[in-house]
Amino acid sequence: MKTIGLLGGMSWESTLGYYRAINKGIRETLGGLHSARIAMVSVDFEPLERLQHAGDWQAIASLLSAAAIDVEAAGADFLLICTNTMHRVAPEIEAAIGIPVLHIADATAEVLVSAGIESVGLLGTAFTMEQDFYKGRLEDRFSLRVLVPDAGDRQLVHRVIYEELCLGETKPSSKAEYLRIIDGLATNGAEAVILGCTEIGMLVRQADTSVRLLDTTAIHAAKAVEFAAQDRG
Ligand code: GLU
Repeated sequence: MKTIGLLGGMSWESTLGYYRAINKGIRETLGGLHSARIAMVSVDFEPLERLQHAGDWQAIASLLSAAAIDVEAAGADFLLICTNTMHRVAPEIEAAIGIPVLHIADATAEVLVSAGIESVGLLGTAFTMEQDFYKGRLEDRFSLRVLVPDAGDRQLVHRVIYEELCLGETKPSSKAEYLRIIDGLATNGAEAVILGCTEIGMLVRQADTSVRLLDTTAIHAAKAVEFAAQDRG
């Protein structure tokens, strides 16, 4: 079994979800008392979040590249960056290490393409919903039509992520707003909606809506399990 590298802590609330999903997945795949081999570095999110909102992606790239080097040194065979937004600096991280990065948007797009979905809604931070590293990647590399909420709703989704979900708070009022936005995306033609932020699955679940949801934490974790379990034993 390969050792899974996790660059976590962004936020730690969602890294918990990765840890659980990966270990469950390995147990289901390999049986018995098997659990995942994991090498993780969990960062302090506060300074990184400040740099995001200051637009200093270069500083983020160097901090996260240093952390990724530590994950590799701890024995990881490949790396998951456990946040959608920080894939903004995935190319810099990838260049700093010698192990592959399993890209969260690619793992998600592969699920969409194999389900025959062509139009998809995207919820995430403003960075994820608006910038090319994520929305553009889905469009350019996978020919998906990506719908995002209007500016006001993008602001709402973004605010709830940083002010509630990353602090472990799940408010019924925010859940209702997210479900309203998901319905709106479906009405505008989205055949499914990507929960493109690793905390959103804490707030909204498939049982809450008839619109098909793609939880990026679950998809990313499942991809890691598949990759790690290729080398059995
Ligand atoms: N975990 C979130 C994501 O998947 C947001 C936190 C961050 O900005 O990294 O985008």
